Amino acid sequence: MSRALTFPFDAPPPPGETIEVAPGVKWLRMPLPFALDHINLWLIAGPDGWTLVDTGYGDAPTRALWERHVERALGERPIARIVVTHYHPDHAGNAAWLAARFGVTVQMTMAEYLTGHAVHGQTSGYSLADTCALFRSHGMSDEHLAALAGRGNAYRRGVPELPTRFARIFAGEALRLGPLEWRVIGGYGHSPEHAALHSGDRGLLISGDMLLPRISTNVSVWPAEAYGDPLARFLGSLDAFVALPERTLVLPSHGLPFRGIAARVAALREHHDARLSELRAAIAAAGHPVSAADVVPVLFRRELDLQQRFFALGEAIAHLNHLAATGGAVRLIGPDGTIRFASAGGA
Ligand SMILES: [Zn+2]
Repeated sequence: MSRALTFPFDAPPPPGETIEVAPGVKWLRMPLPFALDHINLWLIAGPDGWTLVDTGYGDAPTRALWERHVERALGERPIARIVVTHYHPDHAGNAAWLAARFGVTVQMTMAEYLTGHAVHGQTSGYSLADTCALFRSHGMSDEHLAALAGRGNAYRRGVPELPTRFARIFAGEALRLGPLEWRVIGGYGHSPEHAALHSGDRGLLISGDMLLPRISTNVSVWPAEAYGDPLARFLGSLDAFVALPERTLVLPSHGLPFRGIAARVAALREHHDARLSELRAAIAAAGHPVSAADVVPVLFRRELDLQQRFFALGEAIAHLNHLAATGGAVRLIGPDGTIRFASAGGA
């Protein structure tokens, strides 16, 4: 089997323009104010208007671009429905705003809807204080905790408002979007109940953040489920993508459309296996129990900005929780509440 991915499009559409990636399916790109500087959105043509999949970060530059898109990219067709793959700000940021403008209902899964509201409202174990407490228990320094606390509610900066009603969609369900049926493929571990969309007729997969061509999807532990194993859920979710035909064109949220699902999933599995091996080795080499903060430099050997540092610690905790859940390490909780991990054979 060839390990190479193929990329049928050399470059993304410029701001305000679209590229037709398949008959009746258009690719729209929006900026992001992060190191990851863009997101791809998708428009599916139908007799009553466009179905928009994901909505972009909810800040002024994106909303200004949306004003242009409404004039230039949508043509005569209104947005007839909005599907949000998951609650993260680059995907859900303009959902309520666009839904109000076009008088439509946002379709998303229940856990994404409710988790978005929990983070937005700082409740239910999803508050910044809860995240700081989790990261403190995993060894984050006071300096970095102060920087995290100082950010305030970052989610609200990207999602000023969320819809307060929605149309629930389910994994396995067939949605009629435009002339075709699209099946919802559930994904877990990146977000609580991610919805990817597959059209067997067109050979298309709108993969959201579950399958990206170049970067590995972030998998983090969140404070409401501090001992959870999202990495196992993420890796398990990939089986459904491997089962799709090889000719499937993947439309990812970041990067360029590609073919080669099996190769990409194999590379992701190898990536996480390698990380788990590195962590086991680092724990053994330390000769004493180590915290997640201790091992971040093992997993990430480059300078990290503030946001990347939080993702990195969340990802380190996810890998350590996976080792603890699968017998590769033992979780120890110190008298001060600090969580450390030791080799399963005793270190
Ligand atoms: Zn995401």
